[in-house]
Amino acid sequence: MFEYAPAPESRDIVDIRPSYGLFINGEWVEPQGEERHKTVNPATEEVLAEVAWAGEADVDRAVQAAAKAFPVWSAMPGAERAKYLFRIARIIQERARELAVLETLDNGKPIRESRDVDLPLVAAHFFYYAGWADKLAYAGFGPDPRPLGVAGQVIPWNFPLLMLAWKIAPALACGNTVVLKPAETTPLTALAFADICRQADLPPGVVNIVTGAGETGAALVNHPGVDKVAFTGSTEVGRLIARSLAGTRKKLTLELGGKAANIVFEDAPLDQAVEGIVNGIFFNQGHVCCAGSRLLVQESIAADLLEALKRRLGTLRLGDPLDKNTDIGAINSAEQLAKIRELSEAGEAEGAERWSPACPIPDRGYWFPPTVFTGVAQSHRIAREEIFGPVLSVLTFRTPAEAVEKANNTPYGLSAGVWTEKGSRMLWMASRLRAGVVWSNTFNRFDPTSPFGGYKESGYGREGGRHGLEAYLAL
Ligand code: NDP
Repeated sequence: MFEYAPAPESRDIVDIRPSYGLFINGEWVEPQGEERHKTVNPATEEVLAEVAWAGEADVDRAVQAAAKAFPVWSAMPGAERAKYLFRIARIIQERARELAVLETLDNGKPIRESRDVDLPLVAAHFFYYAGWADKLAYAGFGPDPRPLGVAGQVIPWNFPLLMLAWKIAPALACGNTVVLKPAETTPLTALAFADICRQADLPPGVVNIVTGAGETGAALVNHPGVDKVAFTGSTEVGRLIARSLAGTRKKLTLELGGKAANIVFEDAPLDQAVEGIVNGIFFNQGHVCCAGSRLLVQESIAADLLEALKRRLGTLRLGDPLDKNTDIGAINSAEQLAKIRELSEAGEAEGAERWSPACPIPDRGYWFPPTVFTGVAQSHRIAREEIFGPVLSVLTFRTPAEAVEKANNTPYGLSAGVWTEKGSRMLWMASRLRAGVVWSNTFNRFDPTSPFGGYKESGYGREGGRHGLEAYLAL
């Protein structure tokens, strides 16, 4: 492989303040407590900024602001709400480069991905739901669907701004107001979004952003003034939330973990499948709830496919996420890195064979090389648990029925991929796989018009598409 000259994106376009307050009622306010948290660049461990830690009193203030804004926002004609959403979408497009650099600095993902995947999808979500705002009566939810009230939304760190868009765009389009808590390690693009709300002249209180840790999220979802809770994150925290909301009037949607099977049949176009496998598990360092973390390959082609896959992995570039040639960025936090290491060690201890390409690891920051485990048994932890890192577990199968059996042998059910030339086999598989999304000869492809969500322990409710409106309407 020939060397590429460094091609770093300039970070001058981003203006990070040393310290951030909370965004409540259209204003930046100081939290009542003294506690603050430093957010770091996971690629360098450099401190980027200090953010406020919202306590119960701050969350209460934010929920009250959202409740006060609700009668005005919900009574506004849909076409007027749409104007705000279109304006937000256009500002996001105008500021896309700045937001992509900020996302990459705070999250560690390659600029190529934040620039070419995250940001276009963020804008697309706002455009898409802006289009629905004046058509709710024709969406199939009755002639006069009503919003729910205040939505409490808690999001994770893997796609910080995109998850914000998935949550805020449909909520606002339907006439709800929101209080959103970004993840502890990636608050900066949500705080930039607060500025965008001001730039768009969004009425005060319609969007409120409270930063903090798990306790802040718990205070938000348990606040009696919240009418709807939307959560994306781990199954463990999702369970906690479901338990604490049981018996309340609050409507809940949960988008949790996954352990998706990416299934390759012997008739699949091999080179295309290799690209799909790489995109399935190494996109965003594998920090993807629907990642294709279990490769199920038909035994007859397993040796050839693995050889081609290893060759391809040898060409991936790991390093500076701001470099436009980088394929694999940094792991988002020291905690996540420890989890990936622990599960990878368990894989070896349980007898699977570990392989990574020769890949220099930077001295500072949190990094994990792309890793492939072969000889994986279904009972191994690396075949059952969500690793949420650039680690692929390879299993084999002989017949389509065995592939279905193995693919469904998981407590999760978020996504799956099938690679085959045969349309009939594709449909046969898709109707048997217990997964919310089944990709056909592709993987990790997202579109705001398409609903997304899980079966079993991957959660309930759908985000995206017309289905995504349902979660924010009283039916
Ligand atoms: P969490 O589920 O803990 O975090 C998701 C969000 O929930 C964050 O904003 C978090 O805040 C918040 N939160 C944490 N505890 C509570 C609570 N009791 N009540 C309300 N909100 C809460 O995920 P982690 O970041 O800890 O990651 C752990 C594992 O979860 C990963 O290794 C991965 O396997 C999985 N995961 C799955 C995701 C998915 O999309 N399916 C996304 C992220 C993680 P804070 O960040 O401040 O702790």
